[in-house]
Amino acid sequence: MALRPDEFYDHALAATDEERRLPLARMTGWDISPFESDGLRVSPLRPPVLPEPPRHGEDPSNCDACRDRGEGIWFNDKWRLTRIAGVGVPLVLMLHPIEHYDMADLPDELAAELGVLSTHIVRHVQGLPHISRAHVYRIGDGGAHLHIWFFARPEGQSQLYGSWLPVWDDLLPEYPADVAEADAALVADALVASAGGRRSAAGAPPRD
Ligand SMILES: [Zn+2]
Repeated sequence: MALRPDEFYDHALAATDEERRLPLARMTGWDISPFESDGLRVSPLRPPVLPEPPRHGEDPSNCDACRDRGEGIWFNDKWRLTRIAGVGVPLVLMLHPIEHYDMADLPDELAAELGVLSTHIVRHVQGLPHISRAHVYRIGDGGAHLHIWFFARPEGQSQLYGSWLPVWDDLLPEYPADVAEADAALVADALVASAGGRRSAAGAPPRD
């Protein structure tokens, strides 16, 4: 059984200094870290917050992903794909179920489709010229409606390898939107060809 919140905090606190700061270690020492350890320090460790605050959209009647179910670059009857604007990497896409499910609640039929669609999206993103890898993330701490992230890593920019990529994305200047939009269209067209669906929301369930 996992440590209780107070046990976990005490466990972590035991490794901190007098200001409750953990030492710099591991990822900040990696060659691909976006930060030099010189002058960098860790935020003081805060005690657990219980109960945790609700995530966005815990109540489906107040969920942006449900409200925006007509928005996207690709749709089928159960899923839609959107492009996230204003990012630093070449392309960030997000896959959402049309209906309000979190990952642990997905019916098996949708879970199986998620596996197939994720695989196809990765294949098509990695098929874009000058993209080496599609990273796939599900975090789920911010929004209750399942959303899977696909981050395209630009070819050859070797500091952007690995789990620092979302931080580098935040540091980089905004990627040219017209290029990202054209690449997103290539991915969406390829997804229609390989997995069916359509480029517009027509035929999707009506908005609530
Ligand atoms: Zn929702």
